[in-house]
Amino acid sequence: MFENIAVIPSFRNAVSSAVASGKISHALIFEGASSDIRISAAKETAMAILCKGETKPCKVCSACHKVSIDSHPDLHIISKDGAMIKVDEIRDIKEKAKVYPNDGDKSVFIICEAQDMNPQAQNALLKIFEEPARHVCFILTCPSKSSLLETITSRATAYFAGEDSGEDSGETNEKSKGLAAELLLTMATENELQFMKKTALFQKDKALFVSVLKNMEPVIRDALVLSSGNKNLISGEKEACEKLRSALTQKKLMLLLTEIQSLRETTENSANHNLALTRLSALLYSIK
Ligand SMILES: [Zn+2]
Repeated sequence: MFENIAVIPSFRNAVSSAVASGKISHALIFEGASSDIRISAAKETAMAILCKGETKPCKVCSACHKVSIDSHPDLHIISKDGAMIKVDEIRDIKEKAKVYPNDGDKSVFIICEAQDMNPQAQNALLKIFEEPARHVCFILTCPSKSSLLETITSRATAYFAGEDSGEDSGETNEKSKGLAAELLLTMATENELQFMKKTALFQKDKALFVSVLKNMEPVIRDALVLSSGNKNLISGEKEACEKLRSALTQKKLMLLLTEIQSLRETTENSANHNLALTRLSALLYSIK
């Protein structure tokens, strides 16, 4: 599965084994990566669920063929019409979900970019999630599940498709750039309490955490550049880099860089990033 879709191995393994076991959850959330990648992965998962072949998706049976040309009667793809996914569209799903599937034993609903649902739409969806019909499977795509109501995410299984390669809005990236510099300075110059306060917002937002870790690397590199007497900085965070250089020795900056890189790789590939947050706190002590 997902041979031609750029998802991380842990996503590929987890989703394909859930499909193969036949015990797939009635509600899945695909988060991370870009919207194109998330939606393509959702369509391929729907294909695998509806496939009638041996190895799913076989891509040769009639069900796979119908999915590939968007004409399978048991696959419903919902995306925003205008600015938001409105409550009427979710009510329409509710009616469709009552109907038993035509071709197979499942009806699959893909809600593309579920963060575009307005609150009423999310509440309407919640009602469907509370009493799921056995023949229905929902796949929601979104940049981060933190943009959905907790009552929805707690009833679904979330899969992280990978780090966003950066084609999403510059806004998130700008936010995480500033946070990266700020957090490094807190690590180097302040106490653990301040640091814990600042990392609290990552507990529910893995995508932001990964993005911040990624943006820490150029800042540390720049501090190393400054400590070796050069001035060609790439991070755009000159002031933070200078403070970091005066707070930490070159050796400690090197240690910090290696640890942050390893932490980012581990976080990208793991389902639970809270362990990585703990490792980040431990790093605070080794550089002090
Ligand atoms: Zn097939």
